[in-house]
Amino acid sequence: MVSDVINANDLKKIDPVFGQFSFDNHEQIVFCNDKDTGLKAIIGIHNTVLGPALGGTRMWQYNNEWEALNDVLRLSRGMTFKSAITGLNLGGGKAVIIGDAKTQKTPELMKKFGEFVHSLSGRYITAEDVGMETADMDLVREVTPYVTGISESKGGAGNPSPITAYGVFMGMKAAAKYKFGNDILEDKKVIVQGIGHVGESLVEHLTNEGAKVIISDINQDRLLEVSKKYGATIYSGNDIYSEDVDIYAPCALGATINDDTINKLKAKIIAGAANNQLAEEAKHGMILQEKGIVYAPDFLINAGGIINVYAELEGYDKKEIMRKTENIYNTTLEILENADTNAITTNQAALHIAKSRIETRKLENSK
Ligand code: NAD
Repeated sequence: MVSDVINANDLKKIDPVFGQFSFDNHEQIVFCNDKDTGLKAIIGIHNTVLGPALGGTRMWQYNNEWEALNDVLRLSRGMTFKSAITGLNLGGGKAVIIGDAKTQKTPELMKKFGEFVHSLSGRYITAEDVGMETADMDLVREVTPYVTGISESKGGAGNPSPITAYGVFMGMKAAAKYKFGNDILEDKKVIVQGIGHVGESLVEHLTNEGAKVIISDINQDRLLEVSKKYGATIYSGNDIYSEDVDIYAPCALGATINDDTINKLKAKIIAGAANNQLAEEAKHGMILQEKGIVYAPDFLINAGGIINVYAELEGYDKKEIMRKTENIYNTTLEILENADTNAITTNQAALHIAKSRIETRKLENSK
């Protein structure tokens, strides 16, 4: 998962930061340390051409610092293209806090992290990601205005996850339209990997539509809870990648489409919320295309959350959030058709559009 596709020992042989495989001309990388609270965090600012770098904070027990750095580099880059393709005036950034969110996250640690965010004077704006709750963002808000995803009672747009799930659902329907000729998911067999904040909400949309939903998670309590609530089937096999399903929805962590899994995949569509699903974009995107598996680019279909938090900065309402998120359906369909026409992977098609928007703005800015 995440960065374990690159062996930690190999990473040590290359230059520590700018020489990382995942380094992609990031503008700024900030290492944050506080002895008293035990905070160890890295903030990655990939690109600020379109606007301030906005992206969530992930708290995760990485095996080592190399994995954490690799993760923040990949995630912040992904945010640049997510905002660009969604038409938002935001750059790409992300933060990781090294540690166990269940046992090491304290209010003091969150506020100290907020102080580091504040020190960047708005070049980076944070939000929640894996291991974070709306309440954590409320704590960060006590020390800096450069935070989104705060409670609705405090003037924020609230938890972005249901909106993210709705966007993923829209992207999945568009992929179904492209692959099967219609976007009805009734009776389609869908496996949702990771039934956290986004995954659960996606399960709700899918069951409402009559899909046959299979759920998988490392958290047994969540599995029982979600299965009971929506009547979803708990995955009981030992290799979900080789499961014969119509749609695979990765909603846990990244890089699940890698050298070990890609040749086992039987799903006809991959559409999920996880960031950086392809361990190696060019290589694995191409193999999926050759296998006839439709890949709905993650950074395109999981943009609902950023649309939601952007509303806090721009002041637009829920109706506009839903309209923008629903539009993920049209954009996904366009990208899938564009990839077909130009004989490129769906990921490449999405990246081209995102990159050309950034280049155009760069030219305008330099005039
Ligand atoms: P979450 O922490 O609430 O849920 C993640 C779930 O995945 C947890 O239930 C966890 O137990 C499970 N999990 C972890 N490893 C697993 C494994 N190996 N197999 C199966 N399950 C596993 O996180 P979330 O907010 O639901 O986000 C899910 C993914 O979507 C993340 O990759 C996140 O970066 C991405 N994403 C989230 C949002 C958002 O609005 N929350 C927006 C865009 C992208």
